[in-house]
Amino acid sequence: MAEWDESFDWVVVGSGAGSMSSALMMRKAGKTAVILEKTKLVGGTTAKSGGVMWIPNNRFIRAAEPDESAEKAITYLDAVCGDSPDTPGTSPEKRRAYVAEAPKMLDFIIGEGVEMERAATFWPDYYDDLPGGCKTSRCVTARYFDLKELGAWEKRVPPGFAPFPARLEDGMKKDFMKKSVAIKLAFARIAARVVFGKLTGKNYTMAGAALQGRMLKAALGAGVDIRPESPVSQLVVEDGKAVGVETVKGGKPWRIAARLGVLVNAGGFAQNQAMRDRYQPGTRAEWSNAPAGDTGDMHVELERIGGVLAQMDQMVGYQTTRAPGFGTDYVKPAGQSLGARPGAIVVDQSGVRYMNEGGSYELFCETMLKRNREVPAVPSWVIFSQRYADDYPVAGRMIGPGKTPRAYEAEGYLKQADTIEGLAALINVDPAVLRATVDRWNGFVDKGMDEDFRRGAREYDKFLGDPFNAPNPTLGRIDKAPFYAVDIIPGDVGTYGGVIIDAKARVLDRAGEPIPGLYACGVTTASIMGGVYPGAGASVGPSMTFGWIAAKHAAGLDNQY
Ligand SMILES: Cc1cc2nc3c(=O)[nH]c(=O)nc-3n(C[C@H](O)[C@H](O)[C@H](O)COP(=O)(O)OP(=O)(O)OC[C@H]3O[C@@H](n4cnc5c(N)ncnc54)[C@H](O)[C@@H]3O)c2cc1C
Repeated sequence: MAEWDESFDWVVVGSGAGSMSSALMMRKAGKTAVILEKTKLVGGTTAKSGGVMWIPNNRFIRAAEPDESAEKAITYLDAVCGDSPDTPGTSPEKRRAYVAEAPKMLDFIIGEGVEMERAATFWPDYYDDLPGGCKTSRCVTARYFDLKELGAWEKRVPPGFAPFPARLEDGMKKDFMKKSVAIKLAFARIAARVVFGKLTGKNYTMAGAALQGRMLKAALGAGVDIRPESPVSQLVVEDGKAVGVETVKGGKPWRIAARLGVLVNAGGFAQNQAMRDRYQPGTRAEWSNAPAGDTGDMHVELERIGGVLAQMDQMVGYQTTRAPGFGTDYVKPAGQSLGARPGAIVVDQSGVRYMNEGGSYELFCETMLKRNREVPAVPSWVIFSQRYADDYPVAGRMIGPGKTPRAYEAEGYLKQADTIEGLAALINVDPAVLRATVDRWNGFVDKGMDEDFRRGAREYDKFLGDPFNAPNPTLGRIDKAPFYAVDIIPGDVGTYGGVIIDAKARVLDRAGEPIPGLYACGVTTASIMGGVYPGAGASVGPSMTFGWIAAKHAAGLDNQY
């Protein structure tokens, strides 16, 4: 029998999205809960993220759109995720559990004082053309937050990628400010809030940091014991049952017993290059946006004690471009809109276009890596002309004669030529091939139809484009010198494979049976979406929901919430 230094009803490893929803549930049930986080900061990748949760049939969309329903969402997930022996993380039962429980989890955290809102009225599902797909938005997020509300915990939440008192939806319109008075006014209002906030001593944040800041505030208020700098090195199992964990306290080993269960919400392995080489060859830790703590320790530990790893080849790809300063940015330059706005295309190293540049970032990177197995395509090239550059930034900076940042040229990042053929020579592509690719694209733009990859046919492709570009927000010609190319690589926002859980978030063993007392959620698990990313928030939403489901199950409250 193990000797314990301390005991709690509920012990959570890692402070990701499901940690605090589960601990709040436990406190609601009158149980004790501790969250052990290995880093100095609380909130995990979730606190660095957009904080968007994909929650179909949530209270906000239901109020606005009577045709939204659980059935519609299930139809969509069944169509998009599918079932295959390669993706045991997903199953009809788990998808149904998600659709049923996620809106209830949302209502629960709102009831606990976490202010939430619809992330946008237009943020379509990533495959909105499939049955049940949503062409408006199933995404929710937290309202912006003043970190000062956390008192002594203020500095324990990362600042987030956008320290503004703004809605996510407004922030995403920044690049179109000069095209719309309404957008200018919205930004003027945000600026006024920033100034007022500074004068009144606020420390605003938005997106994932606001979500985890608000969750932390609620958890602390409910009496959850939260311990940064407390790495868990071992899950303790006795007679086949998870009974506690080994961590450290005051520099010494510290064993904590878990009376009702252990929840592992310890993130993925995006920053572990050895694991990447083993499971996701060709991908790089330094291309990832996940923070340094995302090293997969618990994947190894869960497998050691009998859990089964699956879908380990899956990552939530997020294309990026290696602009000067790459690697020093808090969030790497987004490559998604770069390739999907009107007047830009993506080609492989032979100068051939090979995909719809719009659509899901996860699919984009998967397609790039797959292409690379046939034709060199990592990196690929984003090709555009001054027509594009007149309107949109490239890695956050405007470019063009007299405007291009010196480092873009000095460091060889931006390739530039007066002709397509000249550009082809700079990127070592056959000029005739690149010329043919661009001519074919321009022909599609003139016809209003991408006959190769149907870019612009889905609402989501249009969402990535420019709402002021007619007739299709994502289609535009490449025809005004100078012509440009920048690289684009398959970065990511995290990995998406791990242990297999059941619909109650219980970790399954090699025989497919739940390991008593052991639960997991988030990207520590094989995604319940299988190998697909159905919409914005398909990582944080399931993590928070399955953490909550785990706590309900362990506390015997399955049917009460
Ligand atoms: C810039 C960016 C934007 C993103 N935007 C979105 C978005 O809007 N919506 C979305 O769904 N996804 C988004 N993602 C992806 C998403 O953030 C992650 O997939 C998700 O947050 C993972 O959450 P989690 O709950 O599984 O774990 P995490 O939030 O990663 O938390 C895991 C925690 O466990 C800790 N830990 C690890 N090992 C141990 C150990 N041994 N002992 C104790 N603690 C440990 C880690 O330090 C970490 O704090 C984004 C990611 C990035 C980087």
